[in-house]
Amino acid sequence: MRARKRFGQNFLHDQNLIRKIVNAINPKPEDHVIEIGPGRGALTALLLKSGCQLDVIEIDRDLASELREKHPQLNVIESDVLKFDFSQIEGSRPLRIVGNLPYNISTPLLFKLFNQIDSIRDMYFMLQLEVVNRLTAEHSHSDYGRLSVMSQYYCQSEKLFTVPPEAFIPRPKVMSAIVRLTPQNKKNDFTDTEVLRKILIQAFSMRRKTIRNALKGYVTAEDIIALGLDPRARPENLSLSNYIAIAKTSTLNL
Ligand code: SAM
Repeated sequence: MRARKRFGQNFLHDQNLIRKIVNAINPKPEDHVIEIGPGRGALTALLLKSGCQLDVIEIDRDLASELREKHPQLNVIESDVLKFDFSQIEGSRPLRIVGNLPYNISTPLLFKLFNQIDSIRDMYFMLQLEVVNRLTAEHSHSDYGRLSVMSQYYCQSEKLFTVPPEAFIPRPKVMSAIVRLTPQNKKNDFTDTEVLRKILIQAFSMRRKTIRNALKGYVTAEDIIALGLDPRARPENLSLSNYIAIAKTSTLNL
């Protein structure tokens, strides 16, 4: 089986696992599901069986035409998902977005999807275990970083199960896991995500520094103390609500 490395192609072949993933997604005829990177259609065939409305986005021209032949009724969008404008396929129903994602684009894709979270009902992704651990990490944990904070801002995330390299052809070098992301139903009152983004980039590029030093130029030590935080804490010790409090008082916000 040909696999293009540059498109992060690792195809699922374990039928029990494929069923387990689609059972977790639990698609219904009334759902509008988008599959990213359908590849040779391992998940696609079972998703279609559920009777849901399914659109798939695939960058590889050969795989896209293979899928069109195999499933003439399927809407195959041949595109780079990072450049794709989702408003083209949004309808009245919030989208359910799923996929065994190419690992090289997973982080930028997650940030892209966070930016249009209002049109999404839920997301189920296969990712490198390490990325799932970062997505789901709580503060003061070594996996906690910018991705964890932004993911908590937009979603509740849950690691469902891990998947070993043997489940794929070709085998990846690392473990994978399935994660479920469900948009928060209570919207945050702080909406300036650009300020939050800048603060998080600055903070986590200096993980070993104290927040007083890491956030110099954004907040003063006095501001940090006034928020009830310890200026000697490390960036990984602050929760999402701490970062939001900092973003609210930050000079960036003036
Ligand atoms: N879903 C299939 C499976 O589980 O066997 C294939 C998964 S494989 C890990 C990732 C798939 O995403 C490949 O089919 C690859 O061609 C496609 N892909 C890679 N980069 C993409 C991009 N930027 N936009 C859309 N699809 C992409």
